[in-house]
Amino acid sequence: MIQLNGVILGYKPRVAARVSLAALILASVCVLAPPSLRAQSCANSDLVVRNAKIVTMDAADQITEAMAVRGGRIATIGTNQDVAACISTTTRVIDAHGRTVLPGLIDVHTHGLEWAKNVVSNQINAAYPTMKSIADLVAEVSRRGKAAKSDEWIVGAGWDDAKYSDHRYIVRSDVDPVSGGHPVYLVHVSGHLAVANSAALKIAGVTRDTPSPPGGVIEHDAKGEPTGILKDNAMNLVANILPAEPPDLAARAAKYFSEQALSFGLTTVHDINLAPEELRGYQQAEHAGWLKVRVHVVPRVRNIADAETLAASGIYTGLGDDHLRIGAAKMFADGGMGARTIAIYPPSAAGETNNFGLLIWSPEDMQRAHRTLAAAGWQLVTHAIGDRAIDEVLDSYAATMKALNLSDPRFRLIHCGISTPAIQKRLKDLHVLVDGNPPFVYWIGSWFRKYGPERVRWSYPAKSYIENGIIEAGGSDVPVTPLTPWWGIWAAVVRSELTTGEILAPEERLTIREALKLYTRNGAYAGFEEKSKGSLEPGKLADFIVMDRDVLTVPSDQLKDVQVLMTFVGGELCYQASAAKVDAP
Ligand SMILES: [Zn+2]
Repeated sequence: MIQLNGVILGYKPRVAARVSLAALILASVCVLAPPSLRAQSCANSDLVVRNAKIVTMDAADQITEAMAVRGGRIATIGTNQDVAACISTTTRVIDAHGRTVLPGLIDVHTHGLEWAKNVVSNQINAAYPTMKSIADLVAEVSRRGKAAKSDEWIVGAGWDDAKYSDHRYIVRSDVDPVSGGHPVYLVHVSGHLAVANSAALKIAGVTRDTPSPPGGVIEHDAKGEPTGILKDNAMNLVANILPAEPPDLAARAAKYFSEQALSFGLTTVHDINLAPEELRGYQQAEHAGWLKVRVHVVPRVRNIADAETLAASGIYTGLGDDHLRIGAAKMFADGGMGARTIAIYPPSAAGETNNFGLLIWSPEDMQRAHRTLAAAGWQLVTHAIGDRAIDEVLDSYAATMKALNLSDPRFRLIHCGISTPAIQKRLKDLHVLVDGNPPFVYWIGSWFRKYGPERVRWSYPAKSYIENGIIEAGGSDVPVTPLTPWWGIWAAVVRSELTTGEILAPEERLTIREALKLYTRNGAYAGFEEKSKGSLEPGKLADFIVMDRDVLTVPSDQLKDVQVLMTFVGGELCYQASAAKVDAP
């Protein structure tokens, strides 16, 4: 039983109302424990969990039944008998009734703030299955247009031509008739393209004569008029003139993101590609006490000037504490599969002559930016999906490591989508890590086929990485796929594709333990945190979750449906499932 603020918080799965009340109260009292030195003994522990199936995820894959926490870290882990001596009159004791306990999960690739801002500011959510066709989205634009004040923008995100019944991009002529003169800007689920209506293009000054910017595409119709589709860097033509956000939006979004992440069992998230106001939002949320999940904030680097500014700032990867930390520096090497702008070698994408995609940087500029950042102490993470882009990044990483004589820089390749055997050999030789995306196979596997069967075979090859000694960590890339890591863990095990149910490259399926490792140990390693996170061992942070089912033995098709009952960060209960979930089997 836990006694806190006079309210009984005992973990009793069948006492629904009481647990629900407890969840509400705990949400308001959750505070992070102060950092402590490694506990030398477990006497007077703050918290003990016993009668559990604790999947430690340590190097020996041990399973234990009890754990004691002191000062926010694990003091002892072992049998119920082992922790008996850790309990004093002030110790909170949780009887887990045989439930499975796992290390808190780590997502190394989110756009959590971007996703949460969309939700918190009530922008249009065009994601499948909320919307299933262009008509659904047009109807919502129409409804918003009627309610909007004059000059007000209508903004949304998440539309997906691959899953909408129309199977084509939405264009400005779909939107113009219903937008009531309001400028409209709707971002594709991939984040690599958007549609702007005629009013928005006019404000942005985009005409039929506007050239595509470097690293971007302004799409034109057969008559040479812009269709409204803007890809990659061309999106900035409109994105840069959107109305200013309310000053507190980013902080409120960080709070929402934190709450949602904890509810899925994530205790550490990396938020990738942040603008300065978003970095500020995270710090404001931290000061307000709203940020319960641990965050790596990863600033964006769009050009040489950004790289030089970051390098000259004097801050670099690792600044901060166990709670809010400066992570790596993020660059894009190519576009997205959804926008068909990933940079590939011939043969071209199916049905599109000479579409080899686009490289955002020249090799010279990329190397200059990477070297500038790495010399200043930044870990590098670079988005590359096409094999041509991946080789460009690996060339640049190799040159940077050699020039600076770096021993353990842990440079990371984000996505590494088309990862052929030749590329895997380079990853291994250079000790480059992969920020992979297991849920992509399910959610956007239909995009892979545009690139031909050989590329489907080598898309996101998780098993090959293990066999070839390449370290992969897991990421949702929310909002590209849902935030919950359980979709990713499930998809890594089954590799079925949403629209057809086809198993894509079945030889790349993982075991449940291998899939969990991507979101625990490997996530910690990618963030230079293997000494404090990623497994439940004495001295490590007491970040752990209690599950409703035994995830090691549940049928694999149920893995996406498992529920997190409790999430602890630094030994503090920061999320507890509502009564309905707690009452689940
Ligand atoms: Zn991303």
